[in-house]
Amino acid sequence: MNHPLPPETSDHALATGERLPKSERTKFSPEAIAEILAIATKYPDKLAATLPALHIAQREFGFVSLDAMKAVARALSIPEGHVFGVASFYTMYQKKPVGKFHLQVCTNISCALSGGVEFLEKVCKKTGCHPGGGPSADGLWSVEEAECLASCGSAPCMQVNADVYDENIDDAKLGEIMKACERGEYREWGLWAGCGDTDMATFRTKPDHQRYTFEGFGTDKYPNLMLRGAGDLNNWPLAVYVSKHEGYVALKKALQMEPVAVTEEVKTSGIRGRGGAGFPAGLKWSFMPKDTPDRKLTRYVVCNADEGEPGTFKDRAIMEYNPHQVIEGVIISGWAMQCQTGFIYVRGEFLWLIEKLEHAIQEARDAGFLGKDILGTGWDFDLIVHRGAGAYICGEETALLNSLEGRRGEPRVKPPFPAAKGAFGQPTTINNVETLAAVPAILRMGGAEYSKIGRPKNTGTRVFCLSGHVKRPGLYELPLGLPLDFIMNDLAGGSSTGKKIKCVIPGGASAPVFSEKEFSTLMDFDSVRDAGSMGGSGGVILLDEDTCMVQACLRLIRFYAHESCGQCTPCREGCNWMEMILYRIEHGQGRMEDLDLLESITPNIAGKTLCAFGDAACGPMDSILQKFRSEFEHHITHKTCMVNGHRLLANVGGH
Ligand code: SF4
Repeated sequence: MNHPLPPETSDHALATGERLPKSERTKFSPEAIAEILAIATKYPDKLAATLPALHIAQREFGFVSLDAMKAVARALSIPEGHVFGVASFYTMYQKKPVGKFHLQVCTNISCALSGGVEFLEKVCKKTGCHPGGGPSADGLWSVEEAECLASCGSAPCMQVNADVYDENIDDAKLGEIMKACERGEYREWGLWAGCGDTDMATFRTKPDHQRYTFEGFGTDKYPNLMLRGAGDLNNWPLAVYVSKHEGYVALKKALQMEPVAVTEEVKTSGIRGRGGAGFPAGLKWSFMPKDTPDRKLTRYVVCNADEGEPGTFKDRAIMEYNPHQVIEGVIISGWAMQCQTGFIYVRGEFLWLIEKLEHAIQEARDAGFLGKDILGTGWDFDLIVHRGAGAYICGEETALLNSLEGRRGEPRVKPPFPAAKGAFGQPTTINNVETLAAVPAILRMGGAEYSKIGRPKNTGTRVFCLSGHVKRPGLYELPLGLPLDFIMNDLAGGSSTGKKIKCVIPGGASAPVFSEKEFSTLMDFDSVRDAGSMGGSGGVILLDEDTCMVQACLRLIRFYAHESCGQCTPCREGCNWMEMILYRIEHGQGRMEDLDLLESITPNIAGKTLCAFGDAACGPMDSILQKFRSEFEHHITHKTCMVNGHRLLANVGGH
């Protein structure tokens, strides 16, 4: 896409050669400016390059200093105030110096249940840092407590320099990582590639799914549709996708159909969105306005790969092992809705996946599946990968659109809905990775055949993510509608601790919790809803009887207080209030009236906010308090836990 770009700024005149230390720089190098301007040409509006430019600024300046923000504004000829506002919104942009190796440890609920808190404390002790407290005395280390990194099934997890994921870490592995950093085997902070860099030679991530289970159900009757080849790191290239997985057969079939017939096929399949809301995907596609004789519209399709719901790690694996399946699904949806461009919005922490997707997209272009005149149809369509920067709320579709446009990821007032006015003001449809990855299978087998899998109105397979106190954590692709206790006990082996499971979060952190009497619930959208919760994103988290539910509740609410975008007073203030009240109960300073106070807060948030985040924050709070009230009362009267088990909250400063 072309649009007028600013004349070269004075930064272009920056002398090449020896440069100042990063922290003393005030200007971009000419190469960095050229990189930013090249990225800007990909978008209909140069403002959309703000996030990639800030990633480059972090690389060039060592952190996103005031000078770095001003340099971004100059490079893109956009207001400084806009850049400051954007940089301050996203957690991946470090606004103060960090160590040469910046260690981010996830302590969200699934990691905490798997020793994440104790692991964070070890990292702090070994480095002499505390979370968010700046670099160690030798400048080598800094530590940050991270919200969910989508490693729930392979916890504990630590990210090194926003670049490399290390998972399943024990003491020995932590020692190895630190020694490898000191030996220079890890890229230094800020040396990771910018958006669009596809140099796989620098790709040094170590996905560690050795403890994962990748399982389907009844392989003949219900073969895996989404997780084909999962676990095999050589499964991703185009040649493998074509030779082993019927790659792009569905696209060829779709291109011989009328676009509206493709949408009808998806409607017939009955597939419901796998991102959280469970809205029928084909119906959503049909909302996109059509061209009229006197009006030709620009339309966009967006793949939501901002996987951040605690307990959920499926989109990551689908993209890791089957990127072409996602790409094929996006292209087919683009054809069905007659879009000109597709965007894959990927959470910023998934840098290695961005590099992999970029490679796979180029392979698809080279094979004629993307670009001009796709397979001789005269239809032009291309894909752009957009990197987020650390904000859970960007999983909400209108927040994602703002982020895609280079703004703060704040949800928009609806209506207008995205199908009427979405990305860059144009009609847009947003679908989750898993939903789009199912589309090739739907086209290949036919919507009617697909609809026979699962249960009426809850069709198809979905990828359940099992984590927490479960013997075989991992991804289970299953037909919708199997009983929860069958999945967690028969398939995933039941409790990992030998203790009884007392609570299950059935659909990611936002889902109201289940206690034992709901463990026989059928795992489909409607049955889980009828049992008082939601299927959400498919994250199933098991908590054993030694888990303090006050701590669990506080850990969950802390996440929502941290991630609220702050636009709505009930959400912004309410989440903080809940966190503070839970904190004092957990620390033995609670009063019995606090329980009534907590119960009075949630009705003032749920249903009274701009987006569904407010409701999501209330679900865990209400359900935990209702089902485990005696634990709260015990905390208040005895000033301590009634269970003396797992630690879910860190004690390393920084809060
Ligand atoms: Fe932002 Fe919360 Fe309001 Fe959603 S509900 S717009 S996250 S303040």
